Amino acid sequence: MGDDCLFCKIASGEMKTEFIKTTDSLVVFKDINPHAPVHLLLVPKKHIRSVNDLTDEDRGIVAELIFEARTMAKEFDVHESGYKLLFNVEYGGGQRVFHLHLHLMGGKKWG
Ligand code: AMP
Ligand code: ZN
Repeated sequence: MGDDCLFCKIASGEMKTEFIKTTDSLVVFKDINPHAPVHLLLVPKKHIRSVNDLTDEDRGIVAELIFEARTMAKEFDVHESGYKLLFNVEYGGGQRVFHLHLHLMGGKKWG
């Protein structure tokens, strides 16, 4: 666990957050500053800084994040209208929380 990592604290339950779903390896919760009517974050319990830090052993969790996002899109009824899946990578890529997470955004027209 990252010493002072917000998403480690959320994923471990140290910082109380309402989860939409938890599995053995990930948690799903609503983004606190949503950019779309549906804006969820899918966060592995394992501390991985960013996509740059993924190793071979993380292949499973990456697949799980995407498959889980697809399930969530269906659950939140944005699967047919469409949605975005986004990994921001490092500061220049818009990442501000340095613990891997997948954004799921839907319910909005993107032009
Ligand atoms: P990123 O810019 O990709 O690092 O995304 C971090 C996201 O985490 C932002 O969209 C924030 O709004 C969101 N966020 C930060 N703190 C919290 C929190 N305590 N609960 C839920 N979402 C958060
Ligand atoms: Zn972390």
